[in-house]
Amino acid sequence: MIVDGHNDLVLRSWRELPVWQMDLDAAHEAGFAGGFFALYVPSPSPVEPTTAHYAMPLADPIPTADAARVALELYDTLRSLPVAIATSPGDFQPDRVTAIVHLEGADPLAPDLSDLETWYERGLRSVGLVWSRPNAFAEGVPFRFPSSPDTGRGLTPAGVELVRACNRLGVLVDLSHLNEAGFWDVARISQAPLVATHSNAHALCRSTRNLTDQQLDAIGESGGMVGVNFAVTFLREDGAQAPDETPLAEIVRHVDYIAERIGIDHVGFGSDFDGAVVPTELGGVAGLPKLVDALRDAGYDGAAVAKVTHENWLRVLGETWR
Ligand code: ZN
Repeated sequence: MIVDGHNDLVLRSWRELPVWQMDLDAAHEAGFAGGFFALYVPSPSPVEPTTAHYAMPLADPIPTADAARVALELYDTLRSLPVAIATSPGDFQPDRVTAIVHLEGADPLAPDLSDLETWYERGLRSVGLVWSRPNAFAEGVPFRFPSSPDTGRGLTPAGVELVRACNRLGVLVDLSHLNEAGFWDVARISQAPLVATHSNAHALCRSTRNLTDQQLDAIGESGGMVGVNFAVTFLREDGAQAPDETPLAEIVRHVDYIAERIGIDHVGFGSDFDGAVVPTELGGVAGLPKLVDALRDAGYDGAAVAKVTHENWLRVLGETWR
């Protein structure tokens, strides 16, 4: 059984685009039991970098009312998919796909948090404070390579209150896309295990979207979790968009690094299916068994494979949710 930290099937469905990496029929056969399904209010698509070295500008903020309107449409799209909604780790079952309602960017939430409980009642159980843009709560990293993730200001007072409210409600706070100042603010404030649902090791790929060794250490010490992102540009040492020349071993390399640094209990998958270009050898959700085989070939025994594929995610969800 595989539980995963991030996919963008909802955005793709909302845009009425054809099936890409997240084929739900193939998911069943591949052992994909679900995971975090992002509600992501899109920014206008930036110009794709043509070189491995790039420094894209930070995306513009989206007004709360606009973001809230789109987020509700995305939520309705999620509810129209043939998936169960998770409110407890036991909801993940091998015979179906189960979705964690995840806001990728708190932009749709009122800065006074007056609608947070309504979202909780809709099933919201995970909030990424930011996507790669500023909002009322925090600021995300711009896409840059090579670059440190220390790119801007930390949490606003509203952001501090959002973290506290999520702790109270038992909603997971996701640190992926957050800049380093914001990360350390959350690390100071949050009572819950620290989680980055779809980010990699900065020591191996110097993208702003990846986590420094110090950030990894803090996640490990908190009992938290890193979901390894399959995006080619966050995996490769040269940061290049080269899916045909990126073997599955590049994903295993990041799993290895994080497991060696902070322990096998603190790493899992955060595919970014339907949101990112992944190694051609993997393709999409149907290729997950090949990735599990690659872990076995790299020396992971049955217990280690179970932790990476689902047990770690289920443990962290159990420790975070109420
Ligand atoms: Zn993302």
